[in-house]
Amino acid sequence: MTVKTRFAPSPTGVLHIGGARTALFSWLYARHHGGQFALRIEDTDRERSTEASVQAILDGMSWLGLDHDGEVVFQTQRFNRYQELIQQLLDEDKAYYCTCSKERLEALREQQMAAGEKPRYDGKCRHAKIPPGTPGAVVRFKNPTTGSVTFHDHVRGDITVSNSELDDLIIARADGTPTYNFTVVVDDMDMGMTHVIRGDDHINNTPRQINLYHALGAQPPEFAHVPMILGEDGTRLSKRHGAVGVMQYAEDGYLPEAVLNYLVRLGWSHGDQEIFSREDMIKLFDLKNINRAPSIFNTDKLNWLNQYWMQQADNQRLAGLLAKRLQKMGIDVPSDMDLSAVVDLFKTRSVTINDMAGQARFLFEDINGYDAKAEKKIFKASALEPLRQLRERLAGIEDWPQADLHAVIEGVVRDLGVGFGKVGQPLRLALTGQGSGPANDAIMRILGQEQTVRRLDRAIRHVAAKFPQTSSPL
Ligand code: GLU
Repeated sequence: MTVKTRFAPSPTGVLHIGGARTALFSWLYARHHGGQFALRIEDTDRERSTEASVQAILDGMSWLGLDHDGEVVFQTQRFNRYQELIQQLLDEDKAYYCTCSKERLEALREQQMAAGEKPRYDGKCRHAKIPPGTPGAVVRFKNPTTGSVTFHDHVRGDITVSNSELDDLIIARADGTPTYNFTVVVDDMDMGMTHVIRGDDHINNTPRQINLYHALGAQPPEFAHVPMILGEDGTRLSKRHGAVGVMQYAEDGYLPEAVLNYLVRLGWSHGDQEIFSREDMIKLFDLKNINRAPSIFNTDKLNWLNQYWMQQADNQRLAGLLAKRLQKMGIDVPSDMDLSAVVDLFKTRSVTINDMAGQARFLFEDINGYDAKAEKKIFKASALEPLRQLRERLAGIEDWPQADLHAVIEGVVRDLGVGFGKVGQPLRLALTGQGSGPANDAIMRILGQEQTVRRLDRAIRHVAAKFPQTSSPL
């Protein structure tokens, strides 16, 4: 048997982290078994479905690299098929027309609630033989009235629900449009799905859907209902907790492999392994190690994984991402600047590409001030002479690319007979405007001679203005 799974989002918003995790698990299960993974857009709710959301889902899936087999299926293109099967169920007396008014159903519901019963349709029209074409009639499925439905859920174990708990589900609205529980069964049946892996908010639908499969003469697929994702405060993950759309993570400078690695561990485990490449996940994924308990979203862990995957990533690729980010920040990158050298400099110090761009900003723009705390500590009168010495020696270099810039700094340290920090710290503050950062020689190599000298001149002017009495103290 070829394993076939699907992801079946309703296009009513962005691709949510929870949806992406469901998609990933379905995709992994198919890829692990050398099977097929389908993408189906459940767009029958025409009021809430939008083109933009379809696009957002496709973008999110493609950014994560969750490729699907075959064409994307849109439910709105399958109305004839749903119609055909609704008719079939009516013809076989497995469904019937119902004209119960909203008011009647509401009153029934109130009565049942008052009596402490579960609200359910009482079957008034089940034997009324209401003819086709009756205005306002919906179609209801004749759910079996005796026996029970039992299925094995790959996450929750065996589940049994008595048919007496299930009422006659509406499968077509008065305007003829089919409802979710019906379309999902028809599609999964027609598309030959062997495994339905979805959020556990659908678990109550499953027994009803299984009855529909039987009525249509089909074998139900296997099911795995994945627990939901909670925010750090234990409530259901929502916008309040920060970014919930997958593409927001792309915008925020995360790498797709880090988000995938994060998502696979959100509700699934393989011993205590934390790092999973795409290949590892495909090799190791199974349904039996999906946790039964809800998972908690943890941004620190995502950041940790992103940092890890940034360090594994190719510099050229990161340079491309960095260039895009800098462009978004309105920063011009000089055409002769080697961005992979910039990446190399910041790779181990950045959490995301955006963080890297923020840290590297001083390389591309003139600095227009010094970090106040660092300035107070470092730009003392004693910084003036090291800065002047550095300026003079660095300005005199003939072949900057070949120069041993570290040796120049060491030369100043030696000649002035001071500790390394007395030279290195003012230099870093002069070059970056910050008290900490990567190695000075590496920064200067990227900045080039002209910028380096210009920044030293500016720092010298700045410190000299602060200490007008000082000629060159140490
Ligand atoms: N369209 C449904 C949703 O977005 C999913 C249905 C399913 O996976 O069976 O919740």
